[in-house]
Amino acid sequence: MQSPTDCIFCAIVSGRAAAAIVYRDEHLTAFLDLFPVVPGHLLIVPNRHAKGLTELDADAASRMVAVAQRLAAAVRRSQTPCEGINLFMAEGPVAGQTVFHCHLHLLPRHGDDGFHVGGSFLNRLNPGRDQLDALAASLRSALSTLEATAEHTE
Ligand code: 5GP
Ligand code: ZN
Repeated sequence: MQSPTDCIFCAIVSGRAAAAIVYRDEHLTAFLDLFPVVPGHLLIVPNRHAKGLTELDADAASRMVAVAQRLAAAVRRSQTPCEGINLFMAEGPVAGQTVFHCHLHLLPRHGDDGFHVGGSFLNRLNPGRDQLDALAASLRSALSTLEATAEHTE
C-alpha cells in the first residue's frame, strides 16, 4: 500500500515529522509515544503502511515481536524504571485504536507508575466448557478455511 499523506506514523517513518526515534531498520521503526502513559512508552511500527494487524504481512508481524523483545531488554538495562512490561495493540476504533497505522505499544512498568489495566480486563466472563469447545471448533474451522485459501494462492 502507498503511504497515506495524512498518516502521522508514515510521516515519522519518512522523516517528514519529528519523533524521538529509538530503533530503526529497513522494516520497522520504534519511537517514544508523544503522550506516554508511563515513562519510556514506546511504539513499534512497520515502515510500510498497514492499517492494523489483519493487514500486516506475517513477516512484519513477527519482526515486530522480535524488536519488542530486544527493546524490552534495552529498557531493562536503561535508566527507565522497569520491573515489568506490557505489550498492547489495538485494531479498530472499538478496540481503542486512534492512529490507523499498525503499532505495538511497549510499556515499561514499575510499582508506582500509576498505570492500571482497565477494570473490564479484570472482570472475566464464565462461559463453561461446552461454549468454549463450540467456539474453539468454529475458530479451528475458520483457520483451516484460511489455510486452504492460502495454499491455493501460493
Ligand atoms: P492507539 O490509541 O491507536 O493504540 O495509539 C496511538 C498512540 O499514538 C497513542 O498512544 C498516542 O499518544 C500516540 N501518538 C499520537 N500522535 C502521535 C505523534 O504525533 N507522535 C508520537 N510519537 N506519538 C503519537
Ligand atoms: Zn501510515
